Amino acid sequence: MNLALWLSRAGLSHPDGPAVAFGTGVTATYAQAALRAARLAGALRARCGLGIGDRVAIVAKNMPAYLELLYGIWHAGLAAVPANAKLHGAELGYILDHSGARVCFVSKGLESEIAAHAPKTLERLIVIGSAEYEALFANDAIDIVSCSGEALAWLFYTSGTTGRPKGAMLTHRVLAAASYAYAMEADPIGPGDAILHAAPMSHGSGLYIMAHVARLGLQVVPESGGFEPDEIFDLIEQWPRASMFAAPTMIKRLVECPADCRPENFRTLIWGGAPMYVEDALAALDRFGPRIAQIYGQGESPMTITTLSKEDIADRDHPRWRERLGSAGRPYACVEVKVADSQDAPVATGEMGEILCRGDVVMPGYWRNEEASAATLRGGWLHTGDVGAFDAEGYLHLKDRSKDLIISGGSNIYPREVEEVLLTHGQVREVSVIGRPDREWGEVVVAYVVGDASRTELDTLCLSNIARFKRPKDYVFVDALPKNNYGKILKTELRVMDKNKAGSP
Ligand code: AMP
Repeated sequence: MNLALWLSRAGLSHPDGPAVAFGTGVTATYAQAALRAARLAGALRARCGLGIGDRVAIVAKNMPAYLELLYGIWHAGLAAVPANAKLHGAELGYILDHSGARVCFVSKGLESEIAAHAPKTLERLIVIGSAEYEALFANDAIDIVSCSGEALAWLFYTSGTTGRPKGAMLTHRVLAAASYAYAMEADPIGPGDAILHAAPMSHGSGLYIMAHVARLGLQVVPESGGFEPDEIFDLIEQWPRASMFAAPTMIKRLVECPADCRPENFRTLIWGGAPMYVEDALAALDRFGPRIAQIYGQGESPMTITTLSKEDIADRDHPRWRERLGSAGRPYACVEVKVADSQDAPVATGEMGEILCRGDVVMPGYWRNEEASAATLRGGWLHTGDVGAFDAEGYLHLKDRSKDLIISGGSNIYPREVEEVLLTHGQVREVSVIGRPDREWGEVVVAYVVGDASRTELDTLCLSNIARFKRPKDYVFVDALPKNNYGKILKTELRVMDKNKAGSP
């Protein structure tokens, strides 16, 4: 089934319902959005000469046009390649080249950067909102090109915290399954409910567009095109019952907003993409009340592996509430999840292993990368590279990426455990723990800290909460931690920084 059906049906059944808003004003009703998608589809096929399965890139900051672009591309039987506009021209050039996109839609101002790095395979670069762009909508609307659920819908380039990004192939089936899962378990949606796109629509936030179309919701794009806490609080006054996907760093900034910023109009703050530390979750819960849900996933299983519900997060009376708060919740109904050893055999409850999953929501492979596909999907399971353990009640406790595990004197140390403790110090704003190569111990634990705390205070905190061998041998105080465009802390970069600083072997 082609996902484009959801928009075209909404255009018929709720023609006057608001589909997209830019700031506080509606820019398209469902009838208008559906018509524009059908016309764009006609132009992509007839005028641009694209054939079924061809790739069309979108390199744009968050903007209302995202909806008509994605749906126009799907309506025409093509595949979208959304890319983060904040990437460097060379990185975008790589994605355009690797995906083989023939057409690229770009936000105004980025065209020369893209043109400078465009591969030969790119035939047209169209600036969104230009006369050339608007002319595409003069085309006759076409019928939806029917396709199977296995057809490629979205080439989702991973954020590339290490090496070149890989293109996770998200099919119509995968995106439909992720949408059902979201609306059924993480954040039930009613007609008119809004989704606020403050995180990149090319990544996490964009994945929630479809569920909101299916449920006749409203896509709200902030005028800033990104995340400005004051603007967000203003927007939820205008659009009550708004949900928003937010990386932990964004949630922290919302928590720090003045007390007169009212959070009551948030339907759900969807927290994901990086660890939700208990101290941060407590602060967010105090500030926002029962409006926070956590999701855990990755591009390869688009943000759909487990979820910790709003009810679980807010259930302070539950005897194991705090433990649950430190978990990533329970598997979504549509996915099988197991914690496995190096032979892929399930480990016992409570034991640590790699998190594997399979189901309708898992990608069929990486685009043009058979080797990585075979390795990541061996035995029919997606190998997430994340380490965790199930507790007796079926909640998944995430530790770290397997490559971030520290082995010191033969003992395994999970950085997250140490980070959780350091964050309980009231003056520590952010922390990241890594292993530093060491001749005697193999690796020693090093904490990079943003905040005002003394070494002695941090050491005392560790000694009273975790085993001695886990406590950092060194604390490095910094103004900020290295992060990628999605707000994820780059431990790889931190290790390089640390190596240069310490001159370690
Ligand atoms: P990406 O594919 O770029 O979205 O990155 C996915 C990775 O982010 C996962 O494999 C995890 O390592 C991490 N991640 C995502 N959600 C969470 C979460 N709720 N808690 C901890 N780490 C997470």
